[in-house]
Amino acid sequence: MEQRYYQKDMETMPVEELKKLQSEKLVRQVQHVYDNVPYYRDLMDKKGVTPADIHGIEDVHKLPFLTKADLRDAYPYGLLAKPLKDCVRIHSTSGTTGRRVVAFYTQHDVDLWEDCCARAIVAAGGSEEDVCQVAYGYGLFTGGSGLHGGSHKVGCLTLPMSSGNTERQIQFMTDLGATILCCTPSYAAYIGETLHEMGYKAEDIPLKAGIFGAEPWTQEMRRNIEESLGIKAYDIYGLTETSGPGVAFECCEQSGMHINEDHFYAEIIDPDTGEVLPEGSKGELVFTALDKEAFPLLRYRTRDICVLTRKPCSCGRTHIKMSKPMGRSDDMMIIRGVNVFPSQIETVLLQEGYQPNYQIVLDRVGNSDTFDVNVEMNADQFSDTVSGVTSQEKKLAAAMKTMLGINPAVHLVPPKSITRSEGKAVRIIDKRKLHD
Ligand code: ADP
Ligand code: ZN
Repeated sequence: MEQRYYQKDMETMPVEELKKLQSEKLVRQVQHVYDNVPYYRDLMDKKGVTPADIHGIEDVHKLPFLTKADLRDAYPYGLLAKPLKDCVRIHSTSGTTGRRVVAFYTQHDVDLWEDCCARAIVAAGGSEEDVCQVAYGYGLFTGGSGLHGGSHKVGCLTLPMSSGNTERQIQFMTDLGATILCCTPSYAAYIGETLHEMGYKAEDIPLKAGIFGAEPWTQEMRRNIEESLGIKAYDIYGLTETSGPGVAFECCEQSGMHINEDHFYAEIIDPDTGEVLPEGSKGELVFTALDKEAFPLLRYRTRDICVLTRKPCSCGRTHIKMSKPMGRSDDMMIIRGVNVFPSQIETVLLQEGYQPNYQIVLDRVGNSDTFDVNVEMNADQFSDTVSGVTSQEKKLAAAMKTMLGINPAVHLVPPKSITRSEGKAVRIIDKRKLHD
């Protein structure tokens, strides 16, 4: 298949040239931040590094890290590098982990961000022939605006649906012939489920591709969504701190996301020691924004755990690829001393033939953790006998024990009893925190 790109020169730039470009941008960016962000200048002073020490991208490790805690300390204006009169937009994190972050954008920042999203849409096969339904939330959350802007840049006919009102989503999708859907993967799964309930089949809709991100999702969930909507489902990654979705996106290979390296320099570090790890190691992803004007974070620790690889990709893009984040370190639960990610539970459910509708409830009785997983039964199980259900629960618990090394109490609950997500899914209810 002939490859199409939104910005071919940048996306396929030879690696040596890319390094040179990153080096020039980094030198300029460090000076910009040093001159305009006293908070970061202090961190540099404490580490004994000045802009004169940064000659190119190979010096990036000399710079101090920036963390979520710094963003909280500096809230709201402490990391702003441009006067407010030069800023045109504010976004905020969705607060998944209870910590809100506000980010500022100049018009130039918005432009580059939308370019990144446009690259993702073109990589998923999008063009001006497409009708692009944006069902990410609009507003402070970056998902809606980012993909909306990208869709305009590509020239798609843009349907700014925002999230929610699922039946109307489907009505517009069918009436107006949407060919690309952008939303969170959990909402895509819900749209698929509703579509079938409304009596449609995947073949009845012209949808061909989906661009799904903003939360972790497994390969099993990808297959599930692809089947139910009859599409190819592409991953997209980003965070408010780095502008929003579009920092990295999947190409036709669907095997990891190309990081837009002309704008973002990525490192993997050991989350405990801060040591930079070689390519191919699993660790915490750290970004340096090379072009951002208003909110230019340097060496920002994302808390997302993944692996970077620069194997040549059949799509022709030269930019390094990141694996799907294996869950953010914030999402990791420590249950009875064992590390557990919701994605592991999701994998078991889909392997055992369940839908990814589940909720994990943690509590503490005395000194020990209770670990319950509520899972929706399939329609046919609903009419099963009590003993049939109990044996299914035991079977699921055993499969989870094999995956996790600890034993959950699994409860099959009636179909539709777990609240569906229109944005990021809430998978964990940790009541233990109330006692801390
Ligand atoms: P919040 O931290 O409140 O969720 P954001 O909306 O900025 O705020 O979310 C960014 C985070 O979402 C990332 O750090 C990452 O953990 C998660 N995320 C975004 N895209 C993906 C993706 N494609 N796969 C897995 N996780 C993702
Ligand atoms: Zn590729």
